[in-house]
Amino acid sequence: MSDCLFCKIAAGLIPCDKVYEDDDYVAFADINPQAPVHILVVPRRHIAKVADMAPADGNLVGGLFDVAAKICAEKGIADYRLVINNGAEAGQSVFHIHLHILAGRSFGWPPG
Ligand code: 5GP
Repeated sequence: MSDCLFCKIAAGLIPCDKVYEDDDYVAFADINPQAPVHILVVPRRHIAKVADMAPADGNLVGGLFDVAAKICAEKGIADYRLVINNGAEAGQSVFHIHLHILAGRSFGWPPG
């Protein structure tokens, strides 16, 4: 087991408020929500950031969006923002690819 927070959450070694899981992905509530709905979708496979993906990783990021759409459809959430931060300057703080689902309020643009 790598020393990665989201690997440990995906493996069930650290508790979370889980909202979805399948063989490849886990989704859980963000511990510091930035909106009434703030869910993180993570692949079980450890890849630090989008820029580290290789062709062999296939459609792993596409699968994150498929899971997000499924969760939002099941919850009846029509409008939502999907965000992936790549690198510290872009706001990434946990270096295991994850997709933020944010919903339940209005959002501004551009982001801060
Ligand atoms: P990033 O800044 O890397 O795009 O997003 C990381 C997210 O992980 C942040 O929104 C942060 O609140 C969330 N987070 C950090 N540690 C934990 C944790 O232990 N549990 C959960 N559920 N979320 C966490």
